[in-house]
Amino acid sequence: MTVALQVQQLAVSYGDARALSGVTFDVAEGRALAVLGANGAGKSSLAAAIAGVVKPAAGSIRLRGTEIGGSPPHRIARLGVAYVPEGRGIFPNLSVTENLRAMLRYAVPRSERAAAVDRAIALFPLLGERRRQPAGTLSGGEQQMLALARVLAAPPSILIADEMSLGLAPKLVDLVFDSLARAKEEGVTVVLVEQYVKRALEYADDAVVLRQGEVAWSGRASEAHSEALASYLGAKGLESQ
Ligand code: ATP
Repeated sequence: MTVALQVQQLAVSYGDARALSGVTFDVAEGRALAVLGANGAGKSSLAAAIAGVVKPAAGSIRLRGTEIGGSPPHRIARLGVAYVPEGRGIFPNLSVTENLRAMLRYAVPRSERAAAVDRAIALFPLLGERRRQPAGTLSGGEQQMLALARVLAAPPSILIADEMSLGLAPKLVDLVFDSLARAKEEGVTVVLVEQYVKRALEYADDAVVLRQGEVAWSGRASEAHSEALASYLGAKGLESQ
């Protein structure tokens, strides 16, 4: 199996506070990795470090053999990494169309960008109706459609998705997972940070459980039995699945 993403001994600190230390795992080409853990375990810090939004304090992040740890986000995006941060990462004052253009900026060459924006809008007709509206006036679900549309219109080589289903109604959570499944079918390698442990494990091939910034468990998602994970995730991790 070819390794798409290799994280070794990764550490992230905020001032004196260490959010991640000694984090090591691989993601094979075309597979999906679920990153699980209780609040504050370091999941978002890991996603942000891979995307280049947070600089690692130590360790290495390799994308198909190329070191990307500490590279700026736009350079990492150019290498085919799409990052959907918690909170969706949209620009509230820009219109839906302008958001898509901005999101696709590093993923699609200029000459193909307009076509990609049209493709994104065709995927979710509701976005078409709102194409001139500032994205900040969209509902949470519509904003998430915008993030999904970007991913599906120009499938990245690696998708780093941080809590895409956070705060969404069940129907929209289904839409998120359907879209993630579609991305995977297209061969996208996925790193998925999720609060819905059961769904994340059903979707993913592999899983990593973080606890206080360290890898507490890693293995096949199918072997990550919920009961065993409960001790790592805390009470909240498995509620209302
Ligand atoms: P959650 O599920 O609550 O988002 P998480 O698992 O994603 O949690 P992180 O957000 O990565 O965890 O946080 C890991 C640790 O780093 C926590 O102790 C958090 O308080 C701290 N932290 C995160 N971001 C910052 C920041 N910008 N400045 C200082 N400390 C931070």
